[in-house]
Amino acid sequence: MNYLSTRGLAPQLRFSEILLGGLASDGGLYVPESYPRFSEAELAAMRGMNYRELAFEVLSRLIDDIPHDDLRALIAKTYTADVYRYTHPGENAEDITPLKTLEPGLHVLALSNGPTLAFKDMAMQLLGNLFEFVLAKTGGELNILGATSGDTGSAAEYAMRGKRGIRVFMLSPEHGMTRFQQAQMYALQDANIHNLVIRGVFDQCQDIVKAVSNDLDFKTRHHIGAVNSINWARVAAQSVYYFKAYFAATHSNDQSVSFSVPSGNFGNVCAGHIARQMGLPIAKLIVATNENDVLDEFFKTGVYRPRPETKHTSSPSMDISKASNFERFVFDLAGRDAAKIRSLWGAVESGGSFDLNADGLFGRVAEFGMASGSSNHANRIDTIRTVYEVYGTMIDPHTADGLKVGLEHREPGVPLICMETAQPAKFEDAIREALGIEPLRPAELADLEALPQKKHVMDADVNAVKQFIVDHAR
Ligand SMILES: *Cc1c(COP(=O)(O)O)cnc(C)c1O
Repeated sequence: MNYLSTRGLAPQLRFSEILLGGLASDGGLYVPESYPRFSEAELAAMRGMNYRELAFEVLSRLIDDIPHDDLRALIAKTYTADVYRYTHPGENAEDITPLKTLEPGLHVLALSNGPTLAFKDMAMQLLGNLFEFVLAKTGGELNILGATSGDTGSAAEYAMRGKRGIRVFMLSPEHGMTRFQQAQMYALQDANIHNLVIRGVFDQCQDIVKAVSNDLDFKTRHHIGAVNSINWARVAAQSVYYFKAYFAATHSNDQSVSFSVPSGNFGNVCAGHIARQMGLPIAKLIVATNENDVLDEFFKTGVYRPRPETKHTSSPSMDISKASNFERFVFDLAGRDAAKIRSLWGAVESGGSFDLNADGLFGRVAEFGMASGSSNHANRIDTIRTVYEVYGTMIDPHTADGLKVGLEHREPGVPLICMETAQPAKFEDAIREALGIEPLRPAELADLEALPQKKHVMDADVNAVKQFIVDHAR
């Protein structure tokens, strides 16, 4: 299996060669040269498999340069009931992603039972083990540099803590994350985890990461890498739970299901698109956004218009102005025409937009099963309240965005699976506002905010961050 760039001008590479990298050298994203497709017999055999067995079936089709026994061992080490142990009452941790039925035909898929209580653990935990495996083979080192406004940073740190050959330098803004989110990251005492708290806002953190990454000499000399949402292995790992959920919600492979996905960078729903291309009977993939509705606008109008500004909302992990994985979907929509992608993203990267109506491409969106909608703060609060009152289930604001939009697209006879992307414990303010009570929190994390914290507060200064890396990356 070779991987090629959506922009067509970068060399084709194998899975292990794109694992540690970011963008392709031509600025595009790597995708498989073609999607492997499961036959009906293979899909029938997959029904009844547990999470680890399914993960091997799916990932071994996409990863052919890691020996199967090694891949199986990495998966076995990642997807355990102990790692994904923060279950809600009534769930079996062995399911890894338990499916909760609210009423017949309406389900919530728990993707946030991992160490940081958000769905990014689903892929990041595997990434940590894959990185360690590949680095051990080559004797390489990796210094992961990132900026976070919440879920990504903590998921990366919990995945990389204690891993040999890997260090994490994670920039976060002094203000803006919840106390719970801060404590999750800063309470980690591992020697290879460095929290750099920047006196500034998230955008300044991100600018520093960009500035360091653009210094190619520094980047090479200090083995700087990233774990951002365009990482192919993350997308691939996420496609597994679409299979798991499908089999849990249906009795036969003649049925199809729809998924509603709280979306920001289009990573989660892109994984659903890939599962569909691999033959999973998905009726609709419903893209749910918050007030940052660049994706909803595209799926309604055919116009993709990244915004100059990001709005701060009560579902902050979906606050994005452009969706970094979207290019992978448009590449398929455009019949894998790399020249077309170069011209579309040429416009986007010079601050513009594109319109897929004129050349008929937007008309093809329905063939891919895509639908969309958006929600605002009042919708989220309403949905959290209604779901609690009607079904006795507490959901977080991101999951609420997904449920609200999913229900708008629900079709009779087609099970609807709404992705739970975070646990309510992470977003106490919204729960307090909606329900007037505190969210449940896993007992183990009861005193999280009281634990000693390890962090380095510094000014928003590129050189200071570089110096810190030099001093701590040996
Ligand atoms: C990251 C995140 C999202 C958005 O996922 P994408 O893959 O970026 O579309 C939604 N909800 C939560 C809680 C997240 O952490």
